[in-house]
Amino acid sequence: MKTAELFENKTVFSLEVFPPKPDAEESVIYDTLEELSDISPDFISVTYGAGGGNNGCKTIQIASDIKHRYGVESVAHLPCIELKREQAAEILDSLQAHGIENVLALRGDRREGSAPAGDFRHASDLISFIKENYDFNVLAACYPEVHPESGSAVNDLKWLRYKAECGADHLITQLFLDNRYFYDFYEKARIAGIGVPIEAGIMPVTNKRQIERMVKLCGVELPKKFVRVLEKYEHNESALRDAGIAYAIDQITDLIAEGVDGIHLYTMNNPYVAHRIFDAVESLIAVSVSASV
Ligand code: FAD
Repeated sequence: MKTAELFENKTVFSLEVFPPKPDAEESVIYDTLEELSDISPDFISVTYGAGGGNNGCKTIQIASDIKHRYGVESVAHLPCIELKREQAAEILDSLQAHGIENVLALRGDRREGSAPAGDFRHASDLISFIKENYDFNVLAACYPEVHPESGSAVNDLKWLRYKAECGADHLITQLFLDNRYFYDFYEKARIAGIGVPIEAGIMPVTNKRQIERMVKLCGVELPKKFVRVLEKYEHNESALRDAGIAYAIDQITDLIAEGVDGIHLYTMNNPYVAHRIFDAVESLIAVSVSASV
């Protein structure tokens, strides 16, 4: 099923996983998927390292297994910054052959000190390429706190609208820890004429190193309330995990009450955390479904 069709009369709840690292046991991802599929998410997306290599094969295989082995719709991420057109076509052909209908088209992060080797400069180039040659439902990324390279919120929205014009059917946001950024961005996106569903990306922060890396990479603001939690519990692993889960539940509760199109949970391959969050918000999602039909 194409993910854009999921939004008719429901609040979508989706999950994201990453393929196992090269030195990790392959079976672990399948234990993770087994537990995550119990949640019956609307779809599970699988990341893809922009550097390519073996990671891409794993993404395709895992996305295929999610769909055919666990019966959950899947989305394969595809960063294009290092891809030639022929390589992109090869991957897309393989996705098609595996029966995958949804691709999250991304540029990928630039590597410092080396020029990108690919034929695509922006995600929009890949979106156009896919729409011209294939029948995939295409997802794209968006940034409530503005992508670090955009220069301004106006440019950021201009290029986001361009991605939608090139054919993006569904958007997923970068993580954010202050819902006000999402509401402001959502309103401006609609005013700018971007009409496709926008899912809110939520990352439960359960360790300090993880959030420090995210802040550096994505330029996400840490609200005072969040910093207080982090400072109080940073030396107590289980307390910080519980506080991170509670914070994510709080964010999701507010988003659902405001009528968000969907929630995309960055699971960090942690089914325990995903289950605790889902259990806490499941009834809210159900109510929002019955209220909107
Ligand atoms: P683009 O849409 O190309 O935007 C990049 C910058 O260029 C922005 O500043 C934008 O304003 C500007 N821009 C866009 N189009 C144009 C244009 N036509 N002309 C001029 N400027 C333009 N990375 C991975 O490597 N693998 C993953 O699996 C992955 N999954 C992700 C999932 C989500 C939900 C999100 C939010 C991000 C993910 N990323 C992933 C990270 C992503 O690759 C980076 O954020 C990257 O820096 C930008 O990707 P993009 O697709 O948004 O790029």
